[in-house]
Amino acid sequence: MSESLATRCVHAGEIADAHGSPHTPIYNTTTFKFPSTADLLDVVDGKKSGSLYTRYGLNPTLFSLEQKLAALEGAEMAWAFCSGMAAEVALFLTHGRKGIVCLGDAYGGTLELLAAQLPQLGIPTHLLLGSDMGRLDAVLAQGVGLVFFETPTNPTLEIFDVHALAKMAHAHGALVAVDNTFASPVNQQPLALSADFAVHSCTKYLGGHSDLTAGAIMGSKELLIPIWNWRKNLGTAISPETAALLARSLRSLVVRVERQNRSAQAVAEAMANHPQVARVFYPGLPDFPGHALAKAQMQGYGGMLSIEVKGDGEAAMRIADRLKLFALAPSLGGAESLVTQPCTTTHHGLTPEERTRRGISDAMLRLSIGLEDTADLIADLNQALG
Ligand code: PLP
Repeated sequence: MSESLATRCVHAGEIADAHGSPHTPIYNTTTFKFPSTADLLDVVDGKKSGSLYTRYGLNPTLFSLEQKLAALEGAEMAWAFCSGMAAEVALFLTHGRKGIVCLGDAYGGTLELLAAQLPQLGIPTHLLLGSDMGRLDAVLAQGVGLVFFETPTNPTLEIFDVHALAKMAHAHGALVAVDNTFASPVNQQPLALSADFAVHSCTKYLGGHSDLTAGAIMGSKELLIPIWNWRKNLGTAISPETAALLARSLRSLVVRVERQNRSAQAVAEAMANHPQVARVFYPGLPDFPGHALAKAQMQGYGGMLSIEVKGDGEAAMRIADRLKLFALAPSLGGAESLVTQPCTTTHHGLTPEERTRRGISDAMLRLSIGLEDTADLIADLNQALG
């Protein structure tokens, strides 16, 4: 599609109805009737596309959302799920059965699934940090099916070179999936950088209002069609109500994320100059290690940043508790700014030694910049930092 992303966000996939609704209605039905058995069989046998049963994903509200989701990532196809984790499970069970490599820090639920649960099904998994990259070639040579990573990562905002990693993985016959949740399609398009899949927790920026839970996978038809049966039988398709709510949110995605980018840059710069802040992790800062790579592969640096305050974990906790506009909550991407201390939430399950190995100190606070006035957010941080 040649239109710009903002136009696709508004118009892609919308179904014009007989009453002139400007966007797709909610088809809040579980099943659909047919004029004859022959017509029903055409859809059941896949000879004709059509609505049939909502758990299968065969519902017009879902078709409409999925066309919009595909258009956002410049993909041939997208599947929508009831959560980001549901999307990951379906992806891993379809394309990761030979083995999965996860690079860098990832969301805690992803790490638990990969480290503790998929191996119970006999699926080999390998968790490599950015500092272990020298081992990647040898691990790929063992014949894994899928390389999965986030970029920027959570919570240290490490940046991985999607194009270079895709080239390396493809040379070994492995597919590449990028969890694009932190960046959003506004700031980064993994498929254009040679990845095979873009994966999202739509619960974050795509939903954008902390009021829905959903997930998505975007990619080629060839690679997405085999995922469909897993979604169908795991029973993890998105519901029509949530699909309509998500489509509503996607229409404003570009304006929200562009605003969050600008605010996060201003907050990062203010924090970099604050005497109580030891370190700022934000790809938009020129001295951040991943800055040059982020500049090359991203169109914006995103609304997420982390700071390391001077002092210990207790000091960081007191600052988090003193914040008034930033809500103390472990999520991201919403209209309201959030703060979380990774050692007490997202990375609480790791040992202190493991957190140190990953560069996550107890004095770190992760900030999700919302849509409030930028100066108000900086003022709130200044008062909390004292
Ligand atoms: N990926 C990332 C980067 C996340 O932050 C999360 C959740 O926090 C997930 C995936 C899982 O998404 P969900 O909570 O929608 O299942």
